[in-house]
Amino acid sequence: MASEQTVHMNGGQGDTSYARNSSLQNAEQNKMRPLIEEAIADLLSTGASLPRSMVVADLGCSSGPNALTLVSICVDAIRSQCLRSRQPPVEVCIFLNDLPDNDFNMVVKSLVAFQQSHRSVVTGVMPGSFYGRLFTSGSLHLACSANSLHWLSEAPEELRRNKIPAYDIDEHVRRERRRVVIGAYARQFRKDFTLFLELGAIELAAGGRLVASLAGRRSEEPAAEFTHAWESVALVLSEMASKGMINRAKFDTFYIPIYGPSDEELREIIQAEGSFSIREMQVHEPASNVESTLISPSKMANLLRAGFEPIIVQHFGSSGEIMDEFVRTAERRWSRRGSLEAELARNPRVILVVSLKKKV
Ligand code: SAH
Repeated sequence: MASEQTVHMNGGQGDTSYARNSSLQNAEQNKMRPLIEEAIADLLSTGASLPRSMVVADLGCSSGPNALTLVSICVDAIRSQCLRSRQPPVEVCIFLNDLPDNDFNMVVKSLVAFQQSHRSVVTGVMPGSFYGRLFTSGSLHLACSANSLHWLSEAPEELRRNKIPAYDIDEHVRRERRRVVIGAYARQFRKDFTLFLELGAIELAAGGRLVASLAGRRSEEPAAEFTHAWESVALVLSEMASKGMINRAKFDTFYIPIYGPSDEELREIIQAEGSFSIREMQVHEPASNVESTLISPSKMANLLRAGFEPIIVQHFGSSGEIMDEFVRTAERRWSRRGSLEAELARNPRVILVVSLKKKV
């Protein structure tokens, strides 16, 4: 059964928007620059003369400044490569993809401005799931994606069916069931990522490249208590549920469709699917760890709100109240000096970055 959860980030440019609360994700995007530059150099270095046009896509672009970051890096890299080889500019078609509920109004406006300031570039949006067909066969040269592929196509159906909460409020039960819950999420991720690669192999041209970053976990700590991105949100909501601020039964049926694999797990899935060779795989400390001393409790709470408000409100009801309470609860939780830093340090999340090449 398809999930009825509609995933998107907070739109617009207001205080609670993704546009205004995504600087940490932007730091992750910028770390992908060297891998994107390498992929472009590879794509453009194959023949004596450059191809006349290229098609580049960002999958899971969201809205706000981050929506254009990866494609800007691509366009800059293509232009530098053309200058270096003293060839006329290659025409570039860039597509921004996200799910239909994304704030595409804002995306389209920034694309028009981008196109006006970049000669030889045409732009478009490609709404739809990256777990379905988006592009015609062999038409894409480079697909990029930042901070998106840990979002699953749906939460594991087997947990819903067996009425197993993703995050049991009872700590003992939670620990006992952790393996079952994580196992179900891991299977869903494998299924989704395999499909993503199969579709990419159809849509990319021969030798096409895929550069992606996603949330992950350290391989050496598979059974740790607190390693997945959804757990920070679950922690705050479970506190609200135990204080009666939200309905406990509702909390027990709330599943966030996110899973962060380990690097080994990801490598194994890519190899088993078989369409791509791995040119590079990196494991980064998330900016939130490195800069944890710079992140205030309220910045962290608002960052979570910008990413998770739509899915929380959809499940618990449409009142904005619940999100104000979410932010207050999170801020209170981290109000003791050093407590947020301690929580981030205990929480061994990483960012995985992969650069793949379609096999011939
Ligand atoms: N790339 C941006 C946004 C990351 S937020 C950045 O790095 O800041 C994750 C985005 O992935 C969200 O906008 C969400 O709507 C999108 N997303 C999640 N699942 C998706 C899917 N199946 N297909 C397309 N986009 C998806």
